[in-house]
Amino acid sequence: MTKLYIDIGGTYLRSELVVGANLIKETVSSQAQGLLSYINHMVLKHPDIDFIGISYAGQVYDGRILFAPNINVDETNIKETVLSRYGKRLEIDNDLNCAVMAEAQYWQSSSVAALYVGTGIGAAVIDTGSLVRGSRNLSFEIGHIPYRSAPFLCGCGRDNCIELFASGSGMGKWLHHYGSDQCINLEQLKNSKIEHEQFVATEFEIALLHAAGTLVTLANPEFLVLGGGIVEKNPYLLGYLKKYLQLYALAPSLKTLRIELSQLKNGPLLGTKLLEEKYYG
Ligand SMILES: [Zn+2]
Repeated sequence: MTKLYIDIGGTYLRSELVVGANLIKETVSSQAQGLLSYINHMVLKHPDIDFIGISYAGQVYDGRILFAPNINVDETNIKETVLSRYGKRLEIDNDLNCAVMAEAQYWQSSSVAALYVGTGIGAAVIDTGSLVRGSRNLSFEIGHIPYRSAPFLCGCGRDNCIELFASGSGMGKWLHHYGSDQCINLEQLKNSKIEHEQFVATEFEIALLHAAGTLVTLANPEFLVLGGGIVEKNPYLLGYLKKYLQLYALAPSLKTLRIELSQLKNGPLLGTKLLEEKYYG
């Protein structure tokens, strides 16, 4: 049995090829190479691949890529194309949907909201053991809830998404707006003596509280699991949310809520291993 698992984000495409008991990992740029071209390369190299699972940082519905502003898309109808061209079964889902499946399995819970903050901010929810999908698999796109106007645009085309404040790309856009193109992390911004850098960090924290409070109020999960690159590098955000979430979420929904940091190395990639079973429908 040979299986190919792929996690594709705005910067990297990470893959794991499982050949029997062996695991081959690879990381390439997701800008330089399209997904179909990568699969083509892997299938030619490993013709015995019998399943391909993909976690995708964009909107995905019924095996098709609907929208992915940050990724090089060389084929939208990816599931059908790979099946007709190579006779291989492929399942693809949104990265947060994949992550929350892996989180629900890790925390052994049927009621989990995952909130991941990296380049973007995303959420997904498993409620009573089922992934909440919506009619077009777009549920809980928390990054694009209206928040406040910013002097620049989100990848979706609007100027008032919460992702413009509570994400790595949002912080980068604010710093660029203030004339700085340096890559500065959240901790440095918090401790900076420069007024606009402190402002960007504070705005990030408040917007994150809004996003988490909205998610918890709407989904009423047993677990709120925080993950993604910015959370991993700033674990203080766990204590921060535990302290202040009461100001942003409906009180009864906090009563039995457990807020945890993700313990998974790569939740979205782990979730691709659950796609074959269609465990969450
Ligand atoms: Zn948006």
